[in-house]
Amino acid sequence: MSGLKAIEIVGGGLAGLSLGLALRREGVPVTLFEAGSYPRHRVCGEFITGLSPATVERLGLAPVLADARHHREVAWFIDGQPARVQQLPAPALGLSRFALDARLAAAFDAAGGELRTDTRVTDDTPRAGRVFANGRRRGRSPWLGLKIHALDLSLERDLELHLGDEVYVGLARVEDNRVNVCGLFRRRQLAAPGAELLLRYLDAAGLPALAARLRAARFDPASFSAVAAVCFDPSVPTAARVQLGDACAMIPPFTGNGMAMAFQSAETALGPLLAYSRGRSDWRAAGALIAARLRRRFRVRLASARLLHPYLLQRPRQRLLAVLARARLLPFRSFYSLLH
Ligand SMILES: Cc1cc2nc3c(=O)[nH]c(=O)nc-3n(C[C@H](O)[C@H](O)[C@H](O)COP(=O)(O)OP(=O)(O)OC[C@H]3O[C@@H](n4cnc5c(N)ncnc54)[C@H](O)[C@@H]3O)c2cc1C
Repeated sequence: MSGLKAIEIVGGGLAGLSLGLALRREGVPVTLFEAGSYPRHRVCGEFITGLSPATVERLGLAPVLADARHHREVAWFIDGQPARVQQLPAPALGLSRFALDARLAAAFDAAGGELRTDTRVTDDTPRAGRVFANGRRRGRSPWLGLKIHALDLSLERDLELHLGDEVYVGLARVEDNRVNVCGLFRRRQLAAPGAELLLRYLDAAGLPALAARLRAARFDPASFSAVAAVCFDPSVPTAARVQLGDACAMIPPFTGNGMAMAFQSAETALGPLLAYSRGRSDWRAAGALIAARLRRRFRVRLASARLLHPYLLQRPRQRLLAVLARARLLPFRSFYSLLH
């Protein structure tokens, strides 16, 4: 027996797995409950911006990210026309969730964590030692996320971001010469199987040239995934209920920062959870500290992303963006630092 108090984690996405791994590296007994299994494809643009080497080091993520692609430039397209190429202040990482989540799960398992897959926790009562990392909160929402991997598709730059009528779509390279195609769409009355649904959404959103380009590509049909009810309202973590990653707050996906936030929330929670596990703090004090630190760490980027989001989705505002971008009047660097 280690003499350390155990931690139970609900949800084995990036926040839950990275926290579990980091706690195991400190010898804490951890049980993690995951409703699904690994590996599996998930709706995600699969590029990570704003993840610092310090967070990677603290959580022990270097081995799982070692072969991630490094993206340095983003080509923006508005109304199907090139608007601007943005240099990223720090490289974004490109790796599929199929690989990333499975690698983290294997690392957690190898570190002695108890991983219970295909186990959905139905009692969501907060209690001492229990951490919620169970992803975005579901609610009524007009948004739909769709993703698929294209094979052997050439890109203008490492990343492409296309803005259409109430939609934005990212194209990002991941491993094995795959290109992640992922978009956030306002829901419409459209129905089709797999990739065809995404292509019809692109046509309906005024992006027929992108749809035609993708129609000429090969897809991995098994990688298709869809998610409805994407909600961006932050929840209010309390002292008793420790919530990390999307369960705490979901940032709009155009930022490419949701995955980094999942890791950073695990990093933020690590110290107070270790203090609890070692008997140096009670659960309420640990929970209150985590909630306060999360609020401080994410407040500015969440508010900034919420302000900018409509500019990426609504036609008149996109046109203003396009004019400013082409005139080189958009402060991409300032936006980047506000959003990360
Ligand atoms: C369209 C779209 C595109 C995106 N693109 C990007 C991008 O390019 N870059 C980026 O950084 N972020 C992106 N994101 C956001 C990113 O995917 C999330 O921020 C990230 O996955 C959050 O990780 P998490 O661990 O909090 O949640 P998740 O990864 O969602 O993990 C939560 C886990 O909890 C499990 N679970 C849920 N309920 C229970 C339960 N009751 N019992 C047991 N297990 C449960 C689920 O099965 C799941 O595995 C995108 C999001 C969307 C919607």
